[in-house]
Amino acid sequence: MKLIPPYRYLRPKNLQEAVEQLGRYGEEAKILAGGTDLIPMIRDCLITPKTMIDISFLDELRYIREEGDMIKIGALATHSEILKSPLINGKTGVLAKAEKVLGATQIRNRGTIGGNLCNASPAADTAPPLMVLNAKLKAISVEGERIIPIEEFFTGPRKNALKPNEILVEVQVSPEPEKSGSSFIKLGRRRALTLSVVSTAALIVMDGVKCRDARIALGAVAPTPVRAKETEKLLINKELNGEVISSAAEKVVEEINPITDVRGSAEYRREMSKVLTKRCLLEALESVKR
Ligand SMILES: Cc1cc2nc3c(=O)[nH]c(=O)nc-3n(C[C@H](O)[C@H](O)[C@H](O)COP(=O)(O)OP(=O)(O)OC[C@H]3O[C@@H](n4cnc5c(N)ncnc54)[C@H](O)[C@@H]3O)c2cc1C
Repeated sequence: MKLIPPYRYLRPKNLQEAVEQLGRYGEEAKILAGGTDLIPMIRDCLITPKTMIDISFLDELRYIREEGDMIKIGALATHSEILKSPLINGKTGVLAKAEKVLGATQIRNRGTIGGNLCNASPAADTAPPLMVLNAKLKAISVEGERIIPIEEFFTGPRKNALKPNEILVEVQVSPEPEKSGSSFIKLGRRRALTLSVVSTAALIVMDGVKCRDARIALGAVAPTPVRAKETEKLLINKELNGEVISSAAEKVVEEINPITDVRGSAEYRREMSKVLTKRCLLEALESVKR
């Protein structure tokens, strides 16, 4: 059995104290939220933080609420809380669909949306839906707060745009527009409790039979989750039917850069990206609220 090297454990009373502690220990510290990514990594000696700042008790970061035309999700909201939320199910269904197939009950009860994003796995299941929702991420440090568009957040495998002294505190999304439909499809090696081999999220907004807006994002097929903007362009202002969708879905391979790993080959991921993009767009079209 491997021994975890000793570390300083801090349990801030509130967000202000957490921000100060991270400001003091910065580079050598790690934020601990649900611990479902962090603890296995420490146990496997992949990282050895000298200081752990446990924010899991900060209820001020655990909320899901609507403010004006924005839905705000605190970084410590768990996957289970998001999945059960009538607000999320009613207004951002694409995120609810992803939460339903993320991990298993135990992981969903413990893991947080902030941890899923900050861990920055290319396969993070909340990333593609949040990308098609054009999410904005609020970060706080001793220097103040800033908003990071989700497209600028992922900078490489397990790398994100946060500075060492910044905490992610909130995810902000707009509700899915009128006359829109959305879908999320995840392909894993099993039906449940599995990481994505390929995942796709799609959101389309219709104007009669014409597509007014199309957003597509994929996970596990590049060093970071990706938006497929060139594929989207092939759908916007078009009358959507099976043929248009099929030919647009072929384009998606030009926007991804998959690797071969234990879960699947690059070639398989390329093929499945086309299949899943097509299915996801068809499901999104089917679900349009007219
Ligand atoms: C058995 C198992 C199955 C899993 N299945 C899936 C799956 O199907 N899909 C999927 O996407 N993931 C899956 N995961 C991964 C994991 O559960 C999720 O990514 C989870 O959301 C991580 O959240 P957490 O709160 O546990 O993060 P933690 O482990 O606490 O933290 C993860 C990382 O983010 C940092 N961090 C956390 N919160 C913040 C914050 N607010 N500000 C700054 N940095 C922060 C931590 O320092 C750490 O580096 C699985 C994990 C396990 C063990």
